[in-house]
Amino acid sequence: MRIGILGYGNLGRGVECAVKQNPDMELVAVFTRRNPETVQILTPGVPVLSINEAEKMQDQIDVLILCGGSATDLPVQTPAFAKYFNVVDSFDTHAKIPEHFAAVDTAAKAAGKIGIISVGWDPGMFSLNRMYANAILPDGCDYTFWGKGVSQGHSDAVRRIAGVKDARQYTIPVPEALEAVRNGQNPVLSTRQKHTRECFVVAEEGADLARIENEIKTMPNYFSDYDTTVHFISEEEMKQNHSGIPHGGMVIRSGKTGTQGENQHIIEYSLKLDSNPEFTASVIVAYARAAFRMNQEGQTGCKTVFDVPPAYLSAASGEELRKNLL
Ligand code: NDP
Repeated sequence: MRIGILGYGNLGRGVECAVKQNPDMELVAVFTRRNPETVQILTPGVPVLSINEAEKMQDQIDVLILCGGSATDLPVQTPAFAKYFNVVDSFDTHAKIPEHFAAVDTAAKAAGKIGIISVGWDPGMFSLNRMYANAILPDGCDYTFWGKGVSQGHSDAVRRIAGVKDARQYTIPVPEALEAVRNGQNPVLSTRQKHTRECFVVAEEGADLARIENEIKTMPNYFSDYDTTVHFISEEEMKQNHSGIPHGGMVIRSGKTGTQGENQHIIEYSLKLDSNPEFTASVIVAYARAAFRMNQEGQTGCKTVFDVPPAYLSAASGEELRKNLL
């Protein structure tokens, strides 16, 4: 399978690494909106080209993986490139998924291509696990906890405060809430009761630390609904202890069966990720394999993780899967 990458940030680099781990795939080209000469990739011999060159390479690429940002890149890029390629993206603005689905579906159907959207871990593997658990235990409650992990959006929000040089924000599940859910107590949890937020901030010299801390803790939408801790640290400490992009979380469904609901069942799917973009990329690459296979069978239009048969993700044959993993 011949793969192209469009957009080369954290996720683009992650896809490049993931392709190397899959012998049935080959990276053909990386496309960028920047001057290609300024973009250094990891694989020698693979060309970095302008985004304007992509369309001409339709015959050389089986799946184009879109690695732009969800806020403004993917709503434009995914439908635009679904006119020429089978595409996979990791669009994660949950509220706008139906709108994005419709735009990609129209473009992909007209072109006879497949577009799999919102692939990754949330949305992605978490969505699949929520769906499986709901189908299996119709009488129950759903819980999703995120973290401990870095939230890019919240880190950016702190960086925009006057006097802040750099910042990293961790989202952390509240252990007591998690415990109650795992015990099958089905608690009703407020936002504040589910997660706490921890910020590590490098302040500019002479900045008013009390004001910065107050601005963080009272920031609407981002922090005001949470218990937030703020630590001021040095630039060296930031580099040494907070340069990774870890994340993870848990999807839990607690449900009842029996004549009176007397038996309790807990389904838990958990992820602990050293690198959010590298894991997301690994999921995307498996779905790229499915996109290619589904399109070869004549399927077209937009799909999500719900529409892809699990065996299509694996490089192994049906026979191998039945023998080794069933
Ligand atoms: P980045 O900000 O690193 O990259 C986004 C785009 O910005 C790139 O494609 C690139 O496009 C451009 N870019 C990157 N670096 C630079 C630079 N130095 N200068 C100028 N432009 C640059 O975002 P991520 O790769 O970390 O994440 C991409 C998206 O993945 C996120 O928006 C998020 O929505 C999604 N995601 C989804 C997850 C899921 O579970 N579904 C999990 C994690 C992320 P170009 O090369 O064209 O300039």
